Amino acid sequence: METRRVYLDHNATTPLHPEVKKEMVEAMEMFGNPSSMHAFGREARANVEHSRQVVADFIGAHEDELVFVGSGSEANNTVLSLFACASNLCLPGFRAKTSIITTKIEHPCVLETSECLAHKGTKVKFLDVDQYGRVDMDQFKEYLTDNVGLVSVMTANNEIGTIQDIAEIAKLAHANGSLVHTDAVQAIGKMRMNVSDLGVDFLTMSAHKIYGPKGIGALYVKKGTPYCPFIRGGHQEKGRRAGTENTLGIIGLAKAIEMRDAEMDEEIKRMVEMKQALKNGIEGSIDDAVFNGHPTLSMPNTLNVSFPGAEGEAIMLYLDLQGIAVSTGSACASGSLDPSHVLLATGSSPERAHGSIRISMGRETTMEDIGCMLDVLPGVIKRIRSMSTAYITGGEHVAAK
Ligand SMILES: *Cc1c(COP(=O)(O)O)cnc(C)c1O
Repeated sequence: METRRVYLDHNATTPLHPEVKKEMVEAMEMFGNPSSMHAFGREARANVEHSRQVVADFIGAHEDELVFVGSGSEANNTVLSLFACASNLCLPGFRAKTSIITTKIEHPCVLETSECLAHKGTKVKFLDVDQYGRVDMDQFKEYLTDNVGLVSVMTANNEIGTIQDIAEIAKLAHANGSLVHTDAVQAIGKMRMNVSDLGVDFLTMSAHKIYGPKGIGALYVKKGTPYCPFIRGGHQEKGRRAGTENTLGIIGLAKAIEMRDAEMDEEIKRMVEMKQALKNGIEGSIDDAVFNGHPTLSMPNTLNVSFPGAEGEAIMLYLDLQGIAVSTGSACASGSLDPSHVLLATGSSPERAHGSIRISMGRETTMEDIGCMLDVLPGVIKRIRSMSTAYITGGEHVAAK
């Protein structure tokens, strides 16, 4: 019998939406360089600009405020790296503001860029979060001094799903004369977002987390905001990102956005139900499960849970043998045996962090998939725990709590 394959790792990446695939297959014939003046080029240019309009509309931006880039990681690197220049001539008005505030739970592309900048002399402060992964607002106010040029806080966390109050963060930062960036890669298409309501200066998105193609992202840059290209050498994107446009990727991103706009509201309702079913099922069938992340201010598709006495890597591999795909912490951290920096920041012990898995649902996930997961998971945990010396069921010794 063919094993049923269940994909519950949508925060790592998503399958192409069938409509996106269709649109991209058709667009593959169109090879013109959008910078060329002839008919081939003009056709490509028209498609790129239409796509820009679609993506900008979705977040309430003007099309001129949207820069297409190679990935979410590139968008984040671009924004943070502005402040590597701040002491030079690139950002007039920001020469005295060479310090950055971010958080301990950002995606590695923000954390590692921040650490690199810190080595080069930029002052970087990493905000603590509470047990649910919410930013410590008192500490934020304390860190928000005159020399802070940029505040970068992710809208929703990829590992635990916790959502931050970006509007409040932006209000405080602007009152201090600091610019605000949010990495919205996980939030886009899972909650309605509008850049004016949020009040941000920069916003990052990526296509492959929303059923679009890999290797294409977009950066919102509010009109009038100081900016400096990360990739130089051409006039593309009005001089904000050199390199011939990824026409096919851009068309795919726009179609993915169009489909999110059409489908997301109904989908969220379904997700809320499936997440609750998953949570109830786990609670009812597995002892000592600990849920990570915020109980309500959290993305409806994401459930992160720790099983003391069972290693996340082992759970992931055993589930994979049964055709179910989940992840441990974040995909970017897997391959390393370091416990998740996000869970550690929430005050979780290294053991509890090691015993966690992330279940992330998507548009094609059904209640049947959740049932399948709930059929398999208790047996997997039981089996792994029975081999573990750190966990004794029913006893007083649960070392990994
Ligand atoms: C996936 C992800 C990124 C990176 O996006 P890429 O397009 O894969 O480079 C950045 N931030 C968050 C929160 C993510 O989940």
